[in-house]
Amino acid sequence: MSLETNTSHEETLQGTVYKKSQRHYGVRVNGHLIDCEVSSRLRKHLEYPTAAPTSRRHRVLDVHKIRVVDPIAIGDVVQFLRAGDDVGIITHVLPRRNQIARQDPGVRPTEQVIAANIDYLVHVIACAQPPPKWALLDRYLASAEKAEIPSLIVLTKSDLLKDEAVRHEAENFRRIGYRVIFTSAATGQDVEELRETLRDKMCVFVGMSGVGKSTLLNALQPELALRVKQISHASGKGKHTTSHLEMFDFDFGGRVVDTPGLKYLTLWEMEGAEVAEHFVEMRPYLGKCKFGADCSHDHEPDCAVKCAVDADAISERRYKSYLTIKEKISA
Ligand code: GDP
Repeated sequence: MSLETNTSHEETLQGTVYKKSQRHYGVRVNGHLIDCEVSSRLRKHLEYPTAAPTSRRHRVLDVHKIRVVDPIAIGDVVQFLRAGDDVGIITHVLPRRNQIARQDPGVRPTEQVIAANIDYLVHVIACAQPPPKWALLDRYLASAEKAEIPSLIVLTKSDLLKDEAVRHEAENFRRIGYRVIFTSAATGQDVEELRETLRDKMCVFVGMSGVGKSTLLNALQPELALRVKQISHASGKGKHTTSHLEMFDFDFGGRVVDTPGLKYLTLWEMEGAEVAEHFVEMRPYLGKCKFGADCSHDHEPDCAVKCAVDADAISERRYKSYLTIKEKISA
């Protein structure tokens, strides 16, 4: 995304996108929300990357290759021209540090960027009721690695924790380098630790419905979940839409985006051969197999990754997740 040169004499302002709905973006500047739209030039430039370079009208050459359905994401830093009181026209999107996207399950292969410039992707999982879906977490963690976004694993409902297997998995995630926090909104366990971790950070919460995300948000800050929920209802719960999204300030410092109904984080453009790189514990073994970089760590002999699994240096459960993701991508 390149910066365009502003030749206008109007005042250019810079702010952060906090809110988006139906092609309108709420851009925060000095605590004030400006209702912005996107300049048609920027929209064309970003939405139709396959337009013929010689075409003056940006005619779309191949609709199936359009991948960005919305050029602006929550968390983007944008420049805009003031077009009146509290309204503006976005002209530039500053380069993103990182971004998280979902793949639109529709007929056209599209990518929707959900949020950008993220400090933590917070994976919220219940210790019980519902039981953890580790394979889903593995998939999300791999997506976050690919996107170069730090992950934080938050286990909720720790007051219900009876299953030693949950503790064991959590220990394994810690061993391979992930931060894991056990919380309970019921007892207040480690809510303060989570607050300290999130302070002054921009974080995106992901988690299945029922894991206790709303309760946790409220434990972090009273009534926060209510404000977040109003947004998810406006966006049509269950439709997995990201057309309405909003970011909220933590009153202790920091910002949060909830992702209602977000089921599939994209493994967009991840090649089968690349998956191993996004399983952090496999990285030290890559390139050390008999077939070197060509090894798929599946059926080949003398595979350093498989040896590590046999030696319990890599968890067998995580290895199976790796194989499943790789097969899905290659299918
Ligand atoms: P969400 O769908 O992820 O937002 O989940 P909710 O926050 O609505 O919580 C789902 C259910 O789990 C509710 O019945 C909550 O009361 C319950 N719950 C949430 N947090 C805790 C907790 O820390 N301990 C216990 N025992 N129950 C919890």
